[in-house]
Amino acid sequence: MPAPRPESWIQVTNRGFYVTPGGFYVDPTRPVDYAVVTHGHADHARPDHGHVLATPETLAIMRHRYQERAGGTHDPMRYGEARKIGEVTVRFVPAGHVLGSAQAVLEYKGSRVVVSGDYKRRSDPTCPPFEPVPCDAFVTEATFGLPVFRHPDAAGEVRRLIDARAQFPERAILVGSYALGKAQRLISLIREAGYDRPIYLHGALMGLCELYQELGIDLGPLERATGQNKKTLAGEIVLAPPAALNDRWARRLPEPLPTMASGWMRVRQRARQRGVELPLVISDHADWDELTQTLHDVGAPQVWVTHGSEEALCHWASQQGFDARALAVVGWGEEESDPEEATAQETEPSEQTGQAG
Ligand SMILES: [Zn+2]
Ligand SMILES: [Zn+2]
Repeated sequence: MPAPRPESWIQVTNRGFYVTPGGFYVDPTRPVDYAVVTHGHADHARPDHGHVLATPETLAIMRHRYQERAGGTHDPMRYGEARKIGEVTVRFVPAGHVLGSAQAVLEYKGSRVVVSGDYKRRSDPTCPPFEPVPCDAFVTEATFGLPVFRHPDAAGEVRRLIDARAQFPERAILVGSYALGKAQRLISLIREAGYDRPIYLHGALMGLCELYQELGIDLGPLERATGQNKKTLAGEIVLAPPAALNDRWARRLPEPLPTMASGWMRVRQRARQRGVELPLVISDHADWDELTQTLHDVGAPQVWVTHGSEEALCHWASQQGFDARALAVVGWGEEESDPEEATAQETEPSEQTGQAG
């Protein structure tokens, strides 16, 4: 008997991606009975599900952010383990996006679909690298799915950040970075460059950095920026949520040099809007070359494109002979799509629980 076609057992509903013979959703955008969650960003990991299957790290992140609303029961599954849910076998493979991030590999009667969540192919000291899994249908993001998006080498961007200290010894180097994933990766990259001074943090970044350290990611010496003598912070690196770059909080720093680490910094207009003087193009999402390379690597005849520039990637994939279609999952892709929106509600010292990237 031929394997069932992927679209016969998976559907997009108003709650998101539903796997019919398993009776579960992947990264549902509203509360459901049974959720398989790829990673801890708020657009993928929502509160209030009945049962959550995710990596131990993703579950820890959800508990940290949502506390009693993190879900009724938590079922940790490590990379490489497998679970049978209904008639579907599920396993997790690293996605290389943030700590705990996983691709969900779904198998039903000989048909295999991979829901990759968000991913990147660059090295990231905070999580294991993306692994391509051959499949019949590959569900890919398209956050940076335009040829204009080609991320430079992150180590070079971090070098520019460290060099700015020597150039502006009187100023605090204030870097806008999302609370989950970006801040910790940036700190790790700064450490890899040999920088061992304390790194100062806005209170909204503290909790998740501590959680990463509890989960075994060494971030070196971290200090709270708030409460420091203004002079102490001259020539120091200070990380804050993007929204803090231009708000009152930044005024307590000595002549802050506004910096931002995001894939969107490729777009000069975005940097200018935020008043960013030192844009750093560092992203936790695949760029155009990584997206197209990945489609070749997994070799899935069917490519389903979600969140981002779906049309451009679908067009390219169709030209390459893939059967490509845009899957509109409403609610995915809010984390890095609009930094303004993403962090507008962050205020110190309360923990950030909204979108991140
Ligand atoms: Zn994400
Ligand atoms: Zn996403």
